[in-house]
Amino acid sequence: MEFSVTRDFHVHERHSSDAPGATVEGYCRIAEARGMEEIGFATHFIIAGPDTDHGIPPELIPEYVREIEEAQETTRVRLRIGLEVDYFPGEERRLASVLDEHPLDFVLGSLHYIRGYDIGSRRGSVAFFSRRPLREALDVYYRGWREAVESGLFDVMAHPDYFRKYLPLTRPDPVAFEDYGPAAIEAIDSLRSYGVGVEVNASGYRHGIGDCYPSLDFLRAAREAGVEAVTLGSDSHSHDGLGAWLGEAVRRLEEAGYTHVSVYEGRRNRRLSLAEVRR
Ligand SMILES: [Zn+2]
Ligand SMILES: [Zn+2]
Repeated sequence: MEFSVTRDFHVHERHSSDAPGATVEGYCRIAEARGMEEIGFATHFIIAGPDTDHGIPPELIPEYVREIEEAQETTRVRLRIGLEVDYFPGEERRLASVLDEHPLDFVLGSLHYIRGYDIGSRRGSVAFFSRRPLREALDVYYRGWREAVESGLFDVMAHPDYFRKYLPLTRPDPVAFEDYGPAAIEAIDSLRSYGVGVEVNASGYRHGIGDCYPSLDFLRAAREAGVEAVTLGSDSHSHDGLGAWLGEAVRRLEEAGYTHVSVYEGRRNRRLSLAEVRR
């Protein structure tokens, strides 16, 4: 049976350069019309590299926070203030000082850039993956991911196997979880030992891979390893994308054996049963 989902903890608004025109207010009206209960805004924050202006400049974070707080006055939908933050080794201290400055409800950690390649772009993905065997590439990817987890900067790691977005351009055959290699298993173990959560991100449907990030086997491995916090995210970049495909994300959680999702406030998480977030 079809159902919609009332909580979305990965939503980009206009301070992300790839979400022009998406306003906090606009999301609120759509959420009200769709009977949603909670939105976690997670605009990009990219502290280093050539794409820093793709995300919010640190000096505009107070304006972003204020916009969400003001919108909260106009709606019964609960609005949470978050950021999707790219991890760069060596930038931990600078990242911590920016994140500590603001009243954030949650911080998503992301790896869109590996060794200077933007693997979320066609060109970057092809350049990175065509120059090394898959196992070696994923070893680099998940070692970076694990460092991000162990940095202690993030509450939840976003889209755990995001590398699949454009991987079919270099590897048309499906990639099994066994192909992710031992570094992925170690990264999952680090989630558990550092108390970091994992996101089920439905944007793979928008990207045309016909699946959530992560794959079922990855999520199952996370559950078996004892990873407790799990969030749902559409990774919406437009009003219309709010909550999109989250029914699939809920099904993915169920298939992996989870019976709850996590929501965040003041960087602390709370569980809701899957039944509570369906509508
Ligand atoms: Zn992302
Ligand atoms: Zn995102």
